[in-house]
Amino acid sequence: MKIRKISVFQIDLPLSEPYFLSGGRLRFEKLDATFLKLETDNKVIGWGEATPWGHTYLPAHGPGVRAGIATLASSVLGSDPRKIEHVERAMDVCLPGHLYAKAPIDMACWDILGQVTGQSIADALGGRYERGTQVASSISTGTPDEMLDRVKRYRSRGYQVHSAKVGGDIALDLSRIDHLEKNRLPNEHMLFDANRSWSRREAIIVMNALPGLGVTFEQPVETIDDIAAIRPLTKAAISIDEALHTVADMTRIVSCNLAEAVNIKLNRVGGLTKARRIRDIALAHGIQCYVMATGGSVLADTEAAHLAQTIPETFRLGSWACQDMLTIDVAPGQGARSIEGVLTVGNSPGLGVAPDEDLLGTPVATYEL
Ligand code: MG
Repeated sequence: MKIRKISVFQIDLPLSEPYFLSGGRLRFEKLDATFLKLETDNKVIGWGEATPWGHTYLPAHGPGVRAGIATLASSVLGSDPRKIEHVERAMDVCLPGHLYAKAPIDMACWDILGQVTGQSIADALGGRYERGTQVASSISTGTPDEMLDRVKRYRSRGYQVHSAKVGGDIALDLSRIDHLEKNRLPNEHMLFDANRSWSRREAIIVMNALPGLGVTFEQPVETIDDIAAIRPLTKAAISIDEALHTVADMTRIVSCNLAEAVNIKLNRVGGLTKARRIRDIALAHGIQCYVMATGGSVLADTEAAHLAQTIPETFRLGSWACQDMLTIDVAPGQGARSIEGVLTVGNSPGLGVAPDEDLLGTPVATYEL
């Protein structure tokens, strides 16, 4: 079996309302999505997606995905998509770094592997646990009352995990955290996500000001070095998100005891093949995991839901349904959907979802053997 053709599609995915991240420093209204279709010589089709969460969130952007695929295509065409680690190696030799551009190719290979072996991706990854994954809300930053209103909206739809975005004005952050925690229900889990916007000083002040609450802070500061610096100065639980890109980052996190949780975003770490290694290191060291898409449609959410559902429930903290924040659905009725705040993958072979090509329009690029 060989990869014969790669087709690349681009569409904008509008958000249902503007999104403000970390004290309003990032504001965006739509996502630049790339969909990738891999076709084999025996007519199997796999789908991938790469949708950065705006272009100011991570060193990843929509046009970069497509430029990366243009560079990678020749290294991938002719490969056997079932030999995913060979495809991974070919991509890493062809283009060091640029994990976010490799992720959709990796995703499409897993889709094909699942289809030809008659297994869901979760089963192909080692085995799916029965229960689906709690979906974390993504609470855009605002005043304490605005943020609580957003939590209540998600709560009414069954969500029990909330990722509230803080960062910026630390006095306001303290009142946000205090207000949300005082109104948290006993069955709810609240993550305060600074998206690396605090300085070391600000992080220490906020994280030590509310010692009785038992809350978790995600990516309070910019880098792993910053986290290592503040770590001995606070007792608050830490989740690492944007500073975790590679297996080497993960081994440093565990060897230096830098976090109680990690957030594995599939596009950021280069796809499922690399993400499963990070998962394994986390589990081997008792570190709990969020597994999420970096952003995007139901395809990206479903990919994340597959990996999430391979994690024992004790170690699985949540996923995300970015699809619920969009006004376009590229695969109506398919894939993992947020039902009562839970994403569950089905038994369908492969990814279990393919976009409606009429909605994607004409490919912006094709590469063929
Ligand atoms: Mg985060």
